Amino acid sequence: MPDLYIGGRWEAARDGGRREIRCPADGSLVAEVDEAGPEDSAAAVEAARSAFDDGAWSGSSSLERGRLLHRVADLLERDKADVARAESLDTGKRYVESQYDVDDVVGVFRHYGNVAAEDAGRLVDTGRPDVVSRVVHEPIGVCGLITPWNYPLLQTSWKVAPALAAGNTFVLKPSELTPSTAVHLMRLLEEAGVPPGVANLVLGAGPRAGAPLSEHPRVDLVSFTGGLATGKRIMVAAAETVKKVALELGGKNPNVVFADADLDAAMDFALTAVFLHSGQVCSAGARLVIEESVHDAFVDELVDRAGRIRLGGPFDDRAETGPLISEAHRDKVEQYVALGLKEGATLRCGGARPPGDALAAGFYYLPTILDGCDSSMSVVHDESFGPVLTVETFRTEDEAVAVANDSIYGLAGAVWTQNAGRAERVAARMRMGTVWINDYHPYVPQAEWGGYKQSGIGRELGAAGLEEYRESKHIWHNVRPAPQRWFDGADET
Ligand code: NAD
Repeated sequence: MPDLYIGGRWEAARDGGRREIRCPADGSLVAEVDEAGPEDSAAAVEAARSAFDDGAWSGSSSLERGRLLHRVADLLERDKADVARAESLDTGKRYVESQYDVDDVVGVFRHYGNVAAEDAGRLVDTGRPDVVSRVVHEPIGVCGLITPWNYPLLQTSWKVAPALAAGNTFVLKPSELTPSTAVHLMRLLEEAGVPPGVANLVLGAGPRAGAPLSEHPRVDLVSFTGGLATGKRIMVAAAETVKKVALELGGKNPNVVFADADLDAAMDFALTAVFLHSGQVCSAGARLVIEESVHDAFVDELVDRAGRIRLGGPFDDRAETGPLISEAHRDKVEQYVALGLKEGATLRCGGARPPGDALAAGFYYLPTILDGCDSSMSVVHDESFGPVLTVETFRTEDEAVAVANDSIYGLAGAVWTQNAGRAERVAARMRMGTVWINDYHPYVPQAEWGGYKQSGIGRELGAAGLEEYRESKHIWHNVRPAPQRWFDGADET
């Protein structure tokens, strides 16, 4: 069965393009899928445009759209094992993590199912008794949704669920490396009763299948999650047609630990913050910013524990984390570590591929800690998106805040202290879209997610995550129209 879903039909690529998907854990062949080119993306945009302009879906009841999202959530629960398995094979992440991801995806569909019919607009008091004035929400139109490979289905759900809840039509372009769960999701949307043309899927490389979405004059919004360089390109491309742009980009996130923190908990979370999914998490706590007085003991133990992290494939029950997504990505991480050492960082652990043959067929890289870093180093500023932790120190609260904020990014960060006043003061001064106090990584669909500074534009999740997919329209209704006689000169001649 072909893999592109356009106008309610499953189609092969118009130019016959195909791509092999291989598991990063061992290089085994996972699937061979159709690879879209610009013509397929253009056809998908036309299908989404006709379905939107037809008005049946965009004008449908938001209550019904909410019910449909709940049906999708039910189907995802039914297929959880298959979806999680497909996600693990594409990404190499542990099966148990993929299962958590599917639970989260279900939660996102349920959340937008619940809120789809909330906030029908508002009445405006104009001060004029002869006027009824109201602001209503309408869908934006055709949305181009472009997603990355690290949390393929989860990042997709953050876009697809609110886009549908608001009554839009869309063309989804997942990462070319991890398309399987997007195909599965489209089958579920079809089964749940999403009308033809409302949801469209093109698989393929960014420049050929994705770029047409940000350039196309008949696309109204492009919502992108991925790297900073691609985000900038998309913003430039979208400017030509003044499209709305939502960008969820990278991060280089500080995990700030004060000496008065619960250091056991801080230690445990410092490991998860950076080494979960081998650091391929946009909000990874890849910068440990630690008070100087506890640096030595804390980092010694961290190094010891990082050195004991067990690597392995998705279905290895003993594995605690998995491989990097591709050879090219591992090359990038290796170059990044080499640069850090050249800049003067001290390698405390890792900095190499795992020894032996057992994992040699996958793209593994050992958990790595670079000590003695400071904010003048590019290894501290650039996103490695791998299992690499840099360590910086501070002496005062002001210095901690200054170090944490010294970044072009502003996605997320954490502060660890048992001094409640300090926790609130520091959290308030951290210039990031998410700040955790004495925790790391949790998120809920009810709360906004997104970046300050070059970590992005706009928000996903929460109320703002729905607003991204809506226009606001002011309707002014004069219920007693009468001549105004502003231009009354005719009587003078
Ligand atoms: P990427 O920028 O390489 O690719 C992301 C998507 O964009 C892919 O689907 C790709 O095919 C597509 N693309 C590439 N070039 C394009 C172009 N010219 N026009 C249109 N589409 C194009 O990113 P990635 O390597 O897949 O993902 C990793 C990045 O994503 C990291 O920087 C990470 O921080 C970021 N990320 C951010 C968040 C967040 O919530 N802020 C979440 C997950 C990942």
